[in-house]
Amino acid sequence: MGVSKDEAAVKLRRSLVDIRSRFDEIRENPIVSSRKEISKDFLKALTILEGVMLDYPECCINSYAEKGPFIRLRVYEEFLETGRDQSIPIEFWAVAHAPCSSTCKRTLELGRKYLDAVAEFSENLKYHVESRLLLPRFYQTGGARFVDLQPIDYDQHKEELSVSRTQFEDEARLRLPEPIEIVLCNIPRPYVLVEAPEEPPYKMAFPNPDMIGTMWLAYTPGFGTYMVNAKTGKLALYITSDKWIPKVGEEWRSKSNFRIYQSVKTQK
Ligand SMILES: [Zn+2]
Repeated sequence: MGVSKDEAAVKLRRSLVDIRSRFDEIRENPIVSSRKEISKDFLKALTILEGVMLDYPECCINSYAEKGPFIRLRVYEEFLETGRDQSIPIEFWAVAHAPCSSTCKRTLELGRKYLDAVAEFSENLKYHVESRLLLPRFYQTGGARFVDLQPIDYDQHKEELSVSRTQFEDEARLRLPEPIEIVLCNIPRPYVLVEAPEEPPYKMAFPNPDMIGTMWLAYTPGFGTYMVNAKTGKLALYITSDKWIPKVGEEWRSKSNFRIYQSVKTQK
């Protein structure tokens, strides 16, 4: 009797969770703890297995296993360097894995496959998913922390706001170095869930409910961001590389952080 791929994937998933938890024990064993390369090679093998299980492209799995999570930064740096950061194919936003490069064909194919699967399920859902993927996206930090945003016109909405543009600009200048970009926008919901500690006056937890609504967003490309709810004046997000990089490691410093990227529809 044959076993379907889905059943095999569920079984593999269970085994991998089990292996990861047991590995923490093994890693502390003195025989293993003195040999760092054992940990490194073992975790690399696990990463490859997990990637295969999730049906991610082989090129991307290998590149992630080899170079680690920083590969995401390199991909956005490539988009910037080649002037494609405002026209990223929508398929790139549809995938969950870290692509091996900004031109990875297998990633584009997989993204298209996901979008086609959504379209088969329902036209309305396809429209909803695509319209969300086409929103400009603020890249908070290298760990794939994105915020979708819909820019809105200040003159049309200023009556509803408790924080004026001038007031916000002054606040932002006290907290961020030039050149500062400022956008008034609606934020429906942060895109990826990642946890971070809270350390006033910084506000780094991501996502947090304060981040949803009409926002003044200021950012210094590559350096940091300051975001305030334009209707209530409440702080939504305040983070700078100087505060954050020392905690996570220099590898995460990148000009691709704290910028707005935009996607385009490449096919039907
Ligand atoms: Zn790839």
